[in-house]
Amino acid sequence: MTVTRFAPSPTGFLHVGNLRTALFNHLIARKTGGTFILRIDDTDPERSKDSYVDAIKEDLDWLGLSWDRVERQSARMDLYAQAADDLRAMGRFYEAFETPVELDLKRKKQLNMGRPPVYDRAALDLSEAEKAAARAERGDGVWRFMLDQSRIEWTDGILGDISIDAASVSDPVLIRADGQVLYTLASIVDDTDMGVTHVVRGSDHVTNTATQIQMIKALGRTVPDFAHHSLLTGPQGEALSKRLGTLALRDLRENGVEPEALLSLMARLGSSQPVELQMSLDEITDGFDLAQFGAAPTKFDAEDLYPLTARKLHGLDFSAVANEISALGVPADKAELFWKITRENIKTRRDLAGWWSLFRDGAEPDIASEDKEFVAKAMTLLPDQPWGPKTWGDWTAAVKAATGRKGKGLFMPLRKAVTGQSRGPEMADVMQLIEVIRGRD
Ligand code: GLU
Repeated sequence: MTVTRFAPSPTGFLHVGNLRTALFNHLIARKTGGTFILRIDDTDPERSKDSYVDAIKEDLDWLGLSWDRVERQSARMDLYAQAADDLRAMGRFYEAFETPVELDLKRKKQLNMGRPPVYDRAALDLSEAEKAAARAERGDGVWRFMLDQSRIEWTDGILGDISIDAASVSDPVLIRADGQVLYTLASIVDDTDMGVTHVVRGSDHVTNTATQIQMIKALGRTVPDFAHHSLLTGPQGEALSKRLGTLALRDLRENGVEPEALLSLMARLGSSQPVELQMSLDEITDGFDLAQFGAAPTKFDAEDLYPLTARKLHGLDFSAVANEISALGVPADKAELFWKITRENIKTRRDLAGWWSLFRDGAEPDIASEDKEFVAKAMTLLPDQPWGPKTWGDWTAAVKAATGRKGKGLFMPLRKAVTGQSRGPEMADVMQLIEVIRGRD
């Protein structure tokens, strides 16, 4: 049975980069009838906030990415301490006392000498007396996992065969000087304890995976399958991290992006399959194939979400938006027509309010100087309210007869005078809904 997990740290809002990880893991579990765990990686008590946990759940809910159970790392500290003890007992765990500044200096020296900046394991040479002295002087040290300096190999679900020389990687710190267990240890304890079969995460974790495979083996547990998806970049290939603040899922939601648009894009972007609007998670699940994804960084442009959003809205029946339209104050007898004529003229649902205020209050007319006289004349010919399905035809016929104008020269100045815009719904429809035409005495 497949078990996957999405493991965000509740230290901020989910963004498009996290979504990719969440979605892939969700889809793999759903495709195989497996279990999808939402794991809250909250071992850092200072930075983790319950409000972010709530926000994460809210965002996943909005997208329909249901989870089968929630786990919190903060409730599992005993298990991590036990694993640390086990590693200590087998001589794979050692205390080191270098300060960050000292480590930085060591790294710089190594780089100057053209060597990879790998921790030199100086702490291994400390006698018990030296360690006691260091502890007395500097407080507790950090705990590092001693890598076996051989090659670490696995077949990655996206990157293919990977081989990393452990000698090129520093022994990872698993417990900080203040006693805080770090993610690298907590994660493998959870993954193996919860029977996670597939770990899919960003390629920034490749080196972690290498060290984690050794830890899992040292503890005599089962190594899951790993896959690392490429990281998203901005449209020009620039690092997305600089803009992530603006790409939080809740901001996209706030801007009117539809969940189906976001899911459809994320399920295909960076794969060999074309992006197309898919209307349900079931449909997305059926078409999902991790093997179709490539290793190259994936360009993401939030603007691509809007045509997909518009496409979804175009396809919606009135019943799906009736409440929302009524909440705008559109009278019941006009609501269906309002949706019919606006749905193809909106980028997001948020634009509905703008159209309704235009119909209700009228628009600031847009009249070119050469059309001033023409429009003024036309306004004198506008039939009296109430306006109905024949109003536009009657009006333009009268204006044509009086002015001799026809075609675009007739229609466009009137459209711009009535709606203030050169584009929009059919004018015959507009005339049925609009209640005020400004600039008409
Ligand atoms: N909490 C980790 C992160 O957000 C999880 C990484 C993983 O999936 O293992 O980076």
